[in-house]
Amino acid sequence: PLVLGIETSCDETGVGIVRGTELLANVIASSMEEHARYGGVVPEVAARAHLEALGPTIAAALAEADIGLADVDAVAVTNGPGLAGALMVGVGAAKALAVALDRPLYAVNHLVGHVGADLLDHEAPLETPTVALLVSGGHTSLLLVRDLVSDVELLGETVDDAAGEAFDKVARLLGLPYPGGPEIDRAAIGGDPTAIRFPRGLTRPKDQASHSFDFSFSGLKTAVARWVEQREAAGEPIPLADVAASFREAVVDVLVAKAVAACTDLGVPRLLLGGGVVANARLRELAEERAAAAGIALRIPPLSLCTDNGAMIAELGAQLIMAGHPPSSMDFGADSTLPVTDIQA
Ligand code: ATP
Ligand code: MG
Ligand code: FE
Repeated sequence: PLVLGIETSCDETGVGIVRGTELLANVIASSMEEHARYGGVVPEVAARAHLEALGPTIAAALAEADIGLADVDAVAVTNGPGLAGALMVGVGAAKALAVALDRPLYAVNHLVGHVGADLLDHEAPLETPTVALLVSGGHTSLLLVRDLVSDVELLGETVDDAAGEAFDKVARLLGLPYPGGPEIDRAAIGGDPTAIRFPRGLTRPKDQASHSFDFSFSGLKTAVARWVEQREAAGEPIPLADVAASFREAVVDVLVAKAVAACTDLGVPRLLLGGGVVANARLRELAEERAAAAGIALRIPPLSLCTDNGAMIAELGAQLIMAGHPPSSMDFGADSTLPVTDIQA
């Protein structure tokens, strides 16, 4: 089926078009720059930006795929989780489009969409069961995907800041601009990742029973702040490269350790990465290293499919259709806290 997918859960307005597992178009308009001076995504600003960008983005995706609206067999849209006002823009547009075209509408889960991204433009299909680690500015979630369209379980998630959010907050306290991930990466060049031993959240033995697959990054952020303050109070210079490299190592170490432990504990030798933090080269490097050592097959979609995009939403819609699932009924709404087990509305 030829599916048009709409994604507006955060600051990316994404429209993707797929035919089966073939990627025909993936157009993204981001309002990231508008949020930069606030140091993080401002929900009202994001919603307004979606409203302005969605029409042109749909047109650009149709042009990229070289098709007309009449060629679309079905519409898919993210209905959660995410920012309520931002989600509502996409949901409203998708309903209008589906009604006007008289086509079925599939409302799908954003996090499961990230997993579905891996099916696009791959010779080898995504094998299940697989563990998926999704790391972005809004999420840090570890999933067990037994079946993409019918059986996804949440193994753990962050109890405070998301990993990308930690990068953004620590960048800010180091005087670096938003978004913090790429800035910390740049600052870490030449730095020693073992210079400062920052805490690894929720990895102590006493955390293991109740929080084995949960993450916590706010203690790490506080530790970096305290370390910097103490140096400043002592009148000593801040070794920025060492701080950035040591902080990044602490985040990446925990992410990879928990993901690999999930694979090992559950006997699932497959791991998929997704989300904007996958742009971090050290994360990819450490994941490759430890996955290889543990005999885990690692999959990392191209970055354009790891960050928020409409193609992954279109693909999850296509998978639901190919599995024979009926369309969503028109009375669904945006759900900012949609659980990962609700794959389709
Ligand atoms: P959502 O959480 O809804 O998926 P988002 O917009 O918060 O959406 P993305 O756009 O996928 O998330 O990713 C943005 C986040 O990724 C930001 O927090 C940014 O700092 C982080 N990021 C980007 N590049 C890097 C990098 N090289 N290293 C670490 N983090 C990075
Ligand atoms: Mg984003
Ligand atoms: Fe996302």
